[in-house]
Amino acid sequence: MDSRHQITGNLVAAAPSISGDELAIAIREHQFVVHYQPKIDTRTLEFVSVEALVRWNHPTLGVVMPDAFIPLAEKGEHIHGITDIVLETALKQNAEWRDQGLDLRVSINISGASLENLDLPERIHDVTGVFNVPSDKVVLEVTETWQCQDTATALDILNGLSEKGFGLALDDVGTGHSNFSKLQEMPFSEMKLDKDHIHSATVDEETRQFIAMCVELGHEMGMYVVAEGIEKQEQWEMISAMGCDEGQGFFIAQPMPGEQIPGWLKRWNTYLGLAENHQRASGPQVNLSEMTGTFHRLNSIFPTKLDI
Ligand code: C2E
Ligand code: CA
Ligand code: CA
Repeated sequence: MDSRHQITGNLVAAAPSISGDELAIAIREHQFVVHYQPKIDTRTLEFVSVEALVRWNHPTLGVVMPDAFIPLAEKGEHIHGITDIVLETALKQNAEWRDQGLDLRVSINISGASLENLDLPERIHDVTGVFNVPSDKVVLEVTETWQCQDTATALDILNGLSEKGFGLALDDVGTGHSNFSKLQEMPFSEMKLDKDHIHSATVDEETRQFIAMCVELGHEMGMYVVAEGIEKQEQWEMISAMGCDEGQGFFIAQPMPGEQIPGWLKRWNTYLGLAENHQRASGPQVNLSEMTGTFHRLNSIFPTKLDI
């Protein structure tokens, strides 16, 4: 394994004292790694896509999580360098999975600050061309706060991306900035419900109704609806019952290095096969979704036993 892909040392989640100069060095020296978190189709339980999440393998601090450096990068110009690295890494990885017969969509987070560069659609299109990844296998996630900027340029860029065939996801829906009537005029193909709302929704009726309304509105606008931050069985069941199309969260899998994805898929499929056989043998009273919920526990207890 390439040393820059090794995750060592502490995890740094809180903002350490990081300077713009350090970020510039990190970009120049490619100190970033990308982890991938699986997303599961709530109806078929199929593993359909991943979200690419950047981590900074800092030479002295250890692994620095994105919340500790993305806001600083967004204040300067460094976010563009980071976006380029994540794009290239994730699309190269997608091409490698494709060579191994794994047909996955990959979602990449794009900062609102990047929606000022009119050449963004062409740049992303060029990278997909280099790695031969079909554009409909790439989704760009834009956090809903970008709407605050709401410039004509941003809309042009989103339209340009959509015309090139990329999926567009409105991220963190529920955090309070969405203007649903404006959303109708925008080319988003996917809505991602924010994890804090998913967490509250199982204990707070008002949030549950709000989330249910978002799912309905999303579908009415022809969007695909994804729920993030699924940590518990009851959250998985809630989003499935509400008709969310995909779920993502620690309940299913943690973000992981790209080379671990094929092994994870094997374990997931093995477990699903076991669950289906069990269901066939025991009759309809066995709930497949409930059984699937034990997957992550089995997986953490027997990380290699289920590997075939
Ligand atoms: P996000 O786009 O909302 O990504 C989801 C975050 O929730 C990730 O945190 C993920 O690890 C975490 N997560 C996933 N499942 C669960 C769960 O079940 N429970 C909880 N509590 N958390 C869960 P992460 O990787 O720390 O990323 C944080 C944020 O940093 C992302 O939030 C995104 O806004 C930003 N980010 C990450 N990678 C990139 C990138 O390549 N570019 C840009 N511009 N931003 C990025
Ligand atoms: Ca995201
Ligand atoms: Ca979020």
